[in-house]
Amino acid sequence: MDEIVALCRRRGFIFQSSEIYGGINGFWDYGPLGTELKRNLKNAWWHDVVQGELIGPDGNPVDIVGLDSTIIMHPKVWVASGHATGFNDPMVDCKASTQRYRADHLVVLGAIEPGARLYAFVQADDEQRAKSEKALLKYERRETLDPTRHVLRPFTAISDDERSRTQGPDAKEPGSLTAARQFNLMFKTLVGAIEDPANYAYLRPETAQGIFANFQNVVDSSRVKVPFGIAQMGKAFRNEVTPRNFTFRSREFEQMEIEFFIRPDTAVEWYGWWRQQRFRWWQSIGLSSSNLQLREHDRDELAHYAKAGAGVCDIEYKFPFTDPDFGELEGVAHRADFDLRQHAEHSGKGDKARYFDQEKNDRYFPHVIEPSAGADRGTLALLCEAYTRDETRASKVFLRFHPRMAPIKAGIFPLVNKDGMPEIAEKIWKELRKSHVVEFDEKQSIGKRYARMDEAGTPFCLTIDSQTIQDGTLTVRHRDDQRQERLPVGTIGSWLTDQIQGRFD
Ligand code: ATP
Repeated sequence: MDEIVALCRRRGFIFQSSEIYGGINGFWDYGPLGTELKRNLKNAWWHDVVQGELIGPDGNPVDIVGLDSTIIMHPKVWVASGHATGFNDPMVDCKASTQRYRADHLVVLGAIEPGARLYAFVQADDEQRAKSEKALLKYERRETLDPTRHVLRPFTAISDDERSRTQGPDAKEPGSLTAARQFNLMFKTLVGAIEDPANYAYLRPETAQGIFANFQNVVDSSRVKVPFGIAQMGKAFRNEVTPRNFTFRSREFEQMEIEFFIRPDTAVEWYGWWRQQRFRWWQSIGLSSSNLQLREHDRDELAHYAKAGAGVCDIEYKFPFTDPDFGELEGVAHRADFDLRQHAEHSGKGDKARYFDQEKNDRYFPHVIEPSAGADRGTLALLCEAYTRDETRASKVFLRFHPRMAPIKAGIFPLVNKDGMPEIAEKIWKELRKSHVVEFDEKQSIGKRYARMDEAGTPFCLTIDSQTIQDGTLTVRHRDDQRQERLPVGTIGSWLTDQIQGRFD
């Protein structure tokens, strides 16, 4: 993972936000290549869900319309959605180190004996675990742990007395960890100039509520009929207690969410369909099946509104930092009619907010299937999937992006800077850049130019040489197997489009 992070910085995929001031934890900026990569991911999502040609389980084209709602909404939205009260992670502060930990991430190692010294660490952190074990052995003057005495327990299961004997992961002495406290993950801000609680507002922690709050507007202003979906992508903010794993857990991130409204009696059918659909989509943009998994949630894991529903699952990716486990890329949930009912109640619209089915002369609150994906986690998965070591290459690594995702689609090079080659190359570049992101490069040796493109994940390099002048063909060099072939200059534009769209001859 460290190598991927270093490459991202060096080649301009991802930088730490405010790096010149030492950075700010949990915030990331996308550089020139990263911006293209993330934009390709978002465009593909928008194209495939909103403008796509999906056919639903009922055999009809799937109808999804777009929305772009605000980041700051009326504070009552978050009361209705449950975020104002329920969006909490119990959290533990360390008074000695000023570090903050999620209580459910901490475990405690030590003997269950009066007066025994205990050591807390973040369960997923192998380094902290090793440090705690070493400290415990040193304190008890032992060589190895004793499985009959030393046990590992969740931090949330220990008593106050035990907590006072617990040494925190970043502390030098025991007793500095506070009890777990609730902590709201929403960023608070002020609307207007006056510092008054009545003016408090929140940065949205998910894009979904903008969709629910606009449900009636969309129904009244367009021709949508259940079943239909509303899609939105945009920024979301969560004051995560422990942002970590590069962009995986950030405090500012982008979501790509669909709320798909259905008749309640079709929930099982649509849930199953979306689950498969979304899983296949991640495969279609280049994530391999061996690194992807669909994990159905156990009933006791489910949010209150989902308990009686058709199901909730996560589409997960095996990131280098989760391996051999997986981390969530997207959640697909049957949210029933929870959100629409909540907004109907809290806004005072009541039963008037129900959807009216003209054909069936029926009024009801539609149920919702929500596929909710993260654009930053998706981009990170694309980077991790693409990262390939190859000692035989000048660059030592190359990024094996699907051509549709690659930030630069082709590099265009004159073999040498004479005999009219630069002029032809420039002409091709000017033509291709009308429809694709392509780069013209005439500096350094051809080997170095290939190496630069390999590291940027550019799938094709087009070289203009002396044969081009004779027979109007150029050399295409393929990134993954370094194979070369000659193609006519005149067809290169349509050939490139076919490759990007995945239409291979
Ligand atoms: P987690 O359990 O990892 O905190 P979540 O279940 O709270 O995630 P959702 O509320 O379902 O996440 O949000 C939908 C999607 O938004 C996630 O699948 C993920 O891709 C993205 N997402 C959520 N939180 C973050 C974050 N802190 N940083 C980056 N992406 C995030």
